[in-house]
Amino acid sequence: MTWRPARRAAPRDEAELAALVAGASAEGLRVRAIGAGHSFTPAAVTDGLHLDLDHLAGVEAVLPQPDGTTHVTVRAGTRLHALNRLLAALGLAMRNLGDIDRQSVAGAISTGTHGTGARLGGLATQVRGVRLVAPDGQVRTATDAAAPGSAERDLFEVARLGLGTVGVLSAVTLEVVPAFCLHAREEPWPLDRVLEGLDDYVDDNDHAEFYWFPGTRRALTLRNNRATPDQVRARDARRAGVAGSLRSAAGRARALLDEELLSNGAFGAVNRLALAAPGLVPRLNAVSARALPARDYVAPSHEVFIHPRRVRFAEMEYAVPRAELRDVLSELDGWLHSSGEPVPFPVEVRFAAPDDVWLSTARGRETAYVAVHQYAAMPHRRYFGAAERIFTAAGGRPHWGKLHTRTAEDLAAHYPLDDVARVRAAADPDGVFRNDYTDAVLDLTPR
Ligand SMILES: Cc1cc2nc3c(=O)[nH]c(=O)nc-3n(C[C@H](O)[C@H](O)[C@H](O)COP(=O)(O)OP(=O)(O)OC[C@H]3O[C@@H](n4cnc5c(N)ncnc54)[C@H](O)[C@@H]3O)c2cc1C
Repeated sequence: MTWRPARRAAPRDEAELAALVAGASAEGLRVRAIGAGHSFTPAAVTDGLHLDLDHLAGVEAVLPQPDGTTHVTVRAGTRLHALNRLLAALGLAMRNLGDIDRQSVAGAISTGTHGTGARLGGLATQVRGVRLVAPDGQVRTATDAAAPGSAERDLFEVARLGLGTVGVLSAVTLEVVPAFCLHAREEPWPLDRVLEGLDDYVDDNDHAEFYWFPGTRRALTLRNNRATPDQVRARDARRAGVAGSLRSAAGRARALLDEELLSNGAFGAVNRLALAAPGLVPRLNAVSARALPARDYVAPSHEVFIHPRRVRFAEMEYAVPRAELRDVLSELDGWLHSSGEPVPFPVEVRFAAPDDVWLSTARGRETAYVAVHQYAAMPHRRYFGAAERIFTAAGGRPHWGKLHTRTAEDLAAHYPLDDVARVRAAADPDGVFRNDYTDAVLDLTPR
């Protein structure tokens, strides 16, 4: 995605950020911040002032809470990989994460980035407070401790997940937990085994997900659970025994799996072969689905959550009611069979608890996330168009940062867009933080 902003700036601190925003809005320029630019939608695009917040990084404050959690205030441009390292050094960790760590904290929360876990919500549910710069350059704070229905509480709702439409976030307070290890189990299963026992599969694990290989009835299952003290001790003992080695055997196996099968080497080769000979895709998927060996290892949570992704792809992801998942996959399977569309990328399925974040894709319902991917060099429109029709018919909600064609008119049935509009009008009366994408997905009557 390329675009031409009138100006770019990378403020060194919050005061400079505030001056830049105030100056641009006084000139009549629109303003957008960009994080890592990892959204597939034009969420961060602007024709006005484009703000890169990479210098606004690092931890500002650490406040232990009586319930055992800790509130950590981080500058908004902090990348998740840096955040994970900073938290680990403090003996802390994010409760749940998505599958990559390149994003900025502000960018990730602003589009509703999520991981998996039937009892857990996305990153925005872990936000306890924000600091943001208003169009006139004033710095405002909003927290979830504000009285429900108050102007501050409403601002907090749209600031923690609202595509940057109520201000430029300069800092975010996250609720984090003591650092923990996960016991990861990765096993190829028949897809029907997963679907027939779906509720147990999802509810009996802290973080359950699976990849289904189109054209096959095979899935790679991933089940991550808090490691027991014995498992952590055994891991530590194994690591201590590997003198001079930087990684445990399990870590090496894991790296090999990511490197060779799911992310880079062999998976890249599979996709290049699919591009050259699309007719081979069903056989390639059958081989991929069977080639993945079972894995079992214990590692710090953020190492388990994150899967490096180096093969370039396009992606659409919808949140559907969990009860609809089987039908959605069955319809997708039917369409793939009847169309013969070559799709060498597995379909990824994850889960989330219902939450109360205004613009969360998991708002108010048990959610299954279904993500369709296509190799970047192969056409995706027909596949994604068919998938979107299936997801939409099932009451699906598109990920704000991934490809979709829905507009505010469709989305009004899912979100309190009138409330969002009211909060935006108060926070940004002149529309400084709008762009075409926010107009399309949030404004019922685009200006
Ligand atoms: C390889 C890959 C893997 C992914 N995996 C997952 C996953 O596991 N789970 C998931 O849910 N999503 C996933 N995503 C989607 C990704 O997490 C989101 O698109 C996320 O928004 C990207 O973060 P970013 O920092 O790149 O934000 P950007 O794309 O740069 O920006 C996103 C939005 O945030 C706004 N924004 C950025 N900074 C600020 C700020 N300081 N103040 C106000 N607004 C701001 C931007 O204006 C824009 O509207 C993945 C994407 C890729 C490419």
